[in-house]
Amino acid sequence: MINSNSSLNVYSPTSLKDLLQLYKKIPTAHLYGGGTDILKDQSRKYLKLPENLIYLKKVPELSYITRTERYLEIGSCVTINRILSIGNHVVPEALFSALQSITPPSIKNLVTIGGNIFTKRNTYPVLLLMNISIELKSSDSSRWIQINKLFSNNGKIELSPNEIITRIRIPFETGNKQTFSIFGDLCFCSLANIQKNVLNNINFLFHIFDGNSYRSREVEAEVSGHNLPLSDRTVGYITGLFVSFMEKHDISPYHRAYINNLLTSYLKNLSGEEAVY
Ligand SMILES: Cc1cc2nc3c(=O)[nH]c(=O)nc-3n(C[C@H](O)[C@H](O)[C@H](O)COP(=O)(O)OP(=O)(O)OC[C@H]3O[C@@H](n4cnc5c(N)ncnc54)[C@H](O)[C@@H]3O)c2cc1C
Repeated sequence: MINSNSSLNVYSPTSLKDLLQLYKKIPTAHLYGGGTDILKDQSRKYLKLPENLIYLKKVPELSYITRTERYLEIGSCVTINRILSIGNHVVPEALFSALQSITPPSIKNLVTIGGNIFTKRNTYPVLLLMNISIELKSSDSSRWIQINKLFSNNGKIELSPNEIITRIRIPFETGNKQTFSIFGDLCFCSLANIQKNVLNNINFLFHIFDGNSYRSREVEAEVSGHNLPLSDRTVGYITGLFVSFMEKHDISPYHRAYINNLLTSYLKNLSGEEAVY
């Protein structure tokens, strides 16, 4: 129930042009796609809503999904279930798992990919590791940025005035062995490229929800090129390097120990292609 004493204006533009002009006119308006973020923490009898809301889901330009040979392009208002319906033969495996991990299941019909990125929830870490491109538009500008430029170091979103997320572009070449797991508030993602028994290339990160992401390209370079399975000595060496990397950051002892165990177990279990007899 909405508090009847408060005035509420809900706008539903039906084209991108109208949306961008409206947002320029009412820059304090609150954009909403799935609207789940506004509802999340409301436990009082009356919903507390901003005075002006702009509903995004009626804008067709934000609801397209297209694909080329190299990437999948998704409008910011496409829901989680719609992306899942494309299938895991098209959507990269780690992203597919991230989309599936969003609960409760019914929420997947509401939550949009743009809103999920904006709030740095389940899909954010894997999209960060995939280094996806994001299109931002306002009534006066249009630009593409890499996702690692979307948030400042202190976690604040870096949108210019009246700018909205319009599309995202996900590359297909993201590795033939992908992992996505969530353990409480900790997320682990890895994208590896394995040919026969050689780990050609690996990217991995740990992400603490409501916190930061931790990735070391130096450690990735050290582990890439090894034969699989990795020896205990190599696993110990690599996790030791990652522990030293974590020591340079403000990570709680609990998360540090958890990450150490997860990485050790992941590296120990990395295997090449099974031999066919
Ligand atoms: C009970 C419950 C459980 C949940 N559990 C999970 C979970 O397990 N995992 C998970 O990942 N999520 C979960 N969510 C959803 C999560 O809380 C995020 O709020 C959600 O992903 C946001 O997506 P949305 O489309 O609803 O965004 P909205 O709520 O519509 O918007 C979120 C924010 O993003 C901004 N925004 C939205 N779209 C754009 C755009 N195109 N351009 C610029 N800004 C934009 C809005 O202004 C707002 O500030 C849960 C939500 C609820 C209610």
